[in-house]
Amino acid sequence: EIVFDKVRKSFGAVEVLPPLDLELNDSEFTVLVGPSGCGKSTTLRILAGLETLSGGEIYFDGRPIGGLEPKERDIAMVFQDYALYPHMNIARNMSFALRLAGVSKSEIEEKVTRVAKLLNIDHLLDRKPAELSGGQRQRVAMGRAMVRDAGTFLFDEPLSNLDAKLRAKMRTELAEMRDTIDKNMVYVTHDQVEAMTLGDRIVVMSDGKIQQQGSPEELFKRPVNRFVAGFIGSPT
Ligand code: ATP
Ligand code: MG
Repeated sequence: EIVFDKVRKSFGAVEVLPPLDLELNDSEFTVLVGPSGCGKSTTLRILAGLETLSGGEIYFDGRPIGGLEPKERDIAMVFQDYALYPHMNIARNMSFALRLAGVSKSEIEEKVTRVAKLLNIDHLLDRKPAELSGGQRQRVAMGRAMVRDAGTFLFDEPLSNLDAKLRAKMRTELAEMRDTIDKNMVYVTHDQVEAMTLGDRIVVMSDGKIQQQGSPEELFKRPVNRFVAGFIGSPT
């Protein structure tokens, strides 16, 4: 269980997260939605340890983790902008964290091959990121997180650059991943279909504040205000 306890984040004078309280239950697929600039990526980056807290604390099973380095947290993240290493080929990009962790060569190869097949990038393993399309790069970014055995996966709009057909396929894969592996997943999206089909729970944010959270059904049937209704709910 992950608990955000009055987490604050400011960049200079700009307050992005006023005290934010949020609970992420184990084995739950939580979808974070909200308008551009409302603080979704910042929330994930703080959880991953890529941004410092301006206040408050984050707890993993009761243990404060606000001071821990990213690699000390049991988290794998798929970034909105991919953040691939340009000088490494795809196979090395995907295995980077595993190599750092000292995983054996044969295990790395088995994992990378399996995930690359799943994501349909197995024919690209020798290429460099610059030689891939945007959608292919996005799948590599996803694969790089999926080869890791982290307890928590964070996805920042991982499907936004894919064409409709591939997006539908990946949505199905993600739903399968959600149902078969016992992980915490936090997933940011602008896509209402993704939110409704993938989320066990949906959290609607605006200006760093939570407007409403609940099951897709609850939010659809009983949005608390027009803002939530506009994002997810049925017309009020
Ligand atoms: P989008 O849907 O466009 O990805 P988002 O909800 O992910 O938006 P964030 O990236 O979390 O939004 O940004 C929230 C606010 O914080 C924005 O106003 C953004 O300009 C600001 N911000 C984010 N990172 C920084 C930074 N490093 N320095 C200054 N301001 C920042
Ligand atoms: Mg973002």
